Amino acid sequence: MKAHSLCIPSTGAPLEHTVIERRGLREEDLLIDIQYSGICHSDIHQGKGDWGGGIFPMVPGHEIVGTVAAVGTGVTKFSVGDRVGVGCFVNSCGECKYCLAGEEQFCQKGVVFTYNAMDYDGAPTYGGYSQSIVVTERFVVRIPDRLSPDAAAPLLCAGITTYSPLKHWHAGPGKKVAIVGMGGLGHLAVQFARAMGAEVTVLSQSASKQEEALQLGARSFYSTRNEETFSKLAGAFDLMINTVSANIDINAYLSLLSVDGTLVNVGLPVNPDSYHAFPLIMSRRSISGSFVGGIRETQEMLDFCAEHGIAPMIEVIGANAEEVQQAWTRVEQADVRYRFVIDTSTFPQE
Ligand code: NAP
Ligand code: ZN
Repeated sequence: MKAHSLCIPSTGAPLEHTVIERRGLREEDLLIDIQYSGICHSDIHQGKGDWGGGIFPMVPGHEIVGTVAAVGTGVTKFSVGDRVGVGCFVNSCGECKYCLAGEEQFCQKGVVFTYNAMDYDGAPTYGGYSQSIVVTERFVVRIPDRLSPDAAAPLLCAGITTYSPLKHWHAGPGKKVAIVGMGGLGHLAVQFARAMGAEVTVLSQSASKQEEALQLGARSFYSTRNEETFSKLAGAFDLMINTVSANIDINAYLSLLSVDGTLVNVGLPVNPDSYHAFPLIMSRRSISGSFVGGIRETQEMLDFCAEHGIAPMIEVIGANAEEVQQAWTRVEQADVRYRFVIDTSTFPQE
């Protein structure tokens, strides 16, 4: 079936309108009419070839919300009309110890990304900047009634990517958590860490974000452009989530961790970061990383958002290449408050 979509024809080229073919329904497939698709900084990294490679033409988008339009004969969990979401991946082996543990992102055969990937059958995957998508039901989650579909979209990547490490490293009462960078991921991280009971500090290069950081639940806000921030906060945090899309001075941030403190990278900058051994050794600190989260945990995160009234701040835009390209530029300039979401109902209807 045909689906109006936006694609990047080749590395770094501007977005353009295209029509793609979605596969026919297999037994366990759902056809989803996409309503909203979030814009993640990873879309931009991949469109520009920041991480090397890339499969073109590329239809980005892994923050997908829509309704089930048709189901395959073997589908058991969903019915036509259900409100559903799809995140960063659409297939995995289902048999390795990570898949069995609900951590499909670590699948030993290799998890299949929602776009910019080849599925196990050799077909390229195309993402959510599109009218529809066909996904096997194992990779589909349910959108709770209390969440609006536009604001639910960013939760499918930005939400789970920040919820997962905060849970894994036990953000909670008595823990001091710093969120570095307050963009799409960061502004959700602030809300999750607060709802989990931690004391939250935002470290941002943009002083203009202070008021919103405090509204979202941060106890304090510090500008990273101010040298004094780093001397004043030395040893202050148990856990730091780095959501910055660019390279930062890792050594300066390590010095803000307490003894046994952990810096978790979720941002994926172009160049390798470097660190000195001293700030790690002298305070038994750790550097780690975290990669989205499994399907089971994604559903748990959505339910957590419904229960705690957590939602991203979004700006909804039309599904045309010009508007989305402008949004990408604003994301690159850290001028997004705090997630762009494409209204895919504005694609041409046929
Ligand atoms: P975003 O909305 O652009 O937010 C990134 C924030 O980083 C900006 O708002 C800005 O916050 C800060 N920043 C940007 N450039 C900076 C610079 N040169 N120096 C210092 N701070 C800077 O991006 P996002 O969608 O949240 O994604 C963030 C990163 O996470 C991207 O690299 C993305 O690819 C990656 N990601 C990883 C995963 C994963 O599984 N690990 C999943 C999704 C995304 P302030 O203005 O507050 O400083
Ligand atoms: Zn993403």
